[in-house]
Amino acid sequence: MRTGRLLLGTNWKMNKTIRESVDYTRRLLGLLDRFDRSDAVQVFVIPPYTAIEAVKRASEGRLWVGAQNMHWAERGAYTGEISALMLQELGVDLVELGHAERRRYFNETDADVNRKVHTALQYGFKPLVCVGEQLEDKRRGIGKETVKNQVRTIFANVETDCAPRLIVAYEPVWAIGAEHADVGIEYVREMQAYIRTSLEEMLGRSAAAMVTVIYGGDVNLRNAATLVSESGTDGLFVGRAAWEAENFAELIRASLKAIG
Ligand code: PEP
Repeated sequence: MRTGRLLLGTNWKMNKTIRESVDYTRRLLGLLDRFDRSDAVQVFVIPPYTAIEAVKRASEGRLWVGAQNMHWAERGAYTGEISALMLQELGVDLVELGHAERRRYFNETDADVNRKVHTALQYGFKPLVCVGEQLEDKRRGIGKETVKNQVRTIFANVETDCAPRLIVAYEPVWAIGAEHADVGIEYVREMQAYIRTSLEEMLGRSAAAMVTVIYGGDVNLRNAATLVSESGTDGLFVGRAAWEAENFAELIRASLKAIG
């Protein structure tokens, strides 16, 4: 269901100093320069907060640069949090919200993510929202129901004209950080199609078609090409396999080849 450029991105989590982040960005851009048709993909990186400004500068407008989280309030007594106003100053393009690790270690709920989505849209960012079922949900046969409930809460009261800015990362929690998760192309296709149907119920058919739905969870050089060519995904969201610029570049090259 891809309508635009293939979206390929990576979240660095709590890794990389400013120097390492800039070095990675320069190396990645240098490698992308060697590819034909690199404009067929939009690449994004999500550094830790401390490196956002430096990466944004080093990326020369060629990469989208994101933040890994954001508070819903503009300012206030929220020790340790970062607001949309602060991220706006850094020129971030997107904000990742509701990653499985935010939910697991920081008790973030779908209702929290909904508030953050509204703030992100208000400040002009693209919210990149992570949804996905736990292994237990899958085993009990309620994986689809789980993602539908997530979509319903997270996108409640979102205006249809915001749809082109919404990015949903379908990330089955049991595949994140796993070795050989072996998710299966058919499974990804089915779950992403179900997410799109759930979005249709929220936003209507034509707006839902404008939402970008990407896949994440043990994406690597072995499965990237098949995922982009056979699962119907709009892109890939990569952790470990993209933490070295050379590896990410190889994955981008394989994806470009796969879309022909
Ligand atoms: C993630 O953390 O969202 C992720 C997809 O990680 P990995 O690619 O390492 O499984």
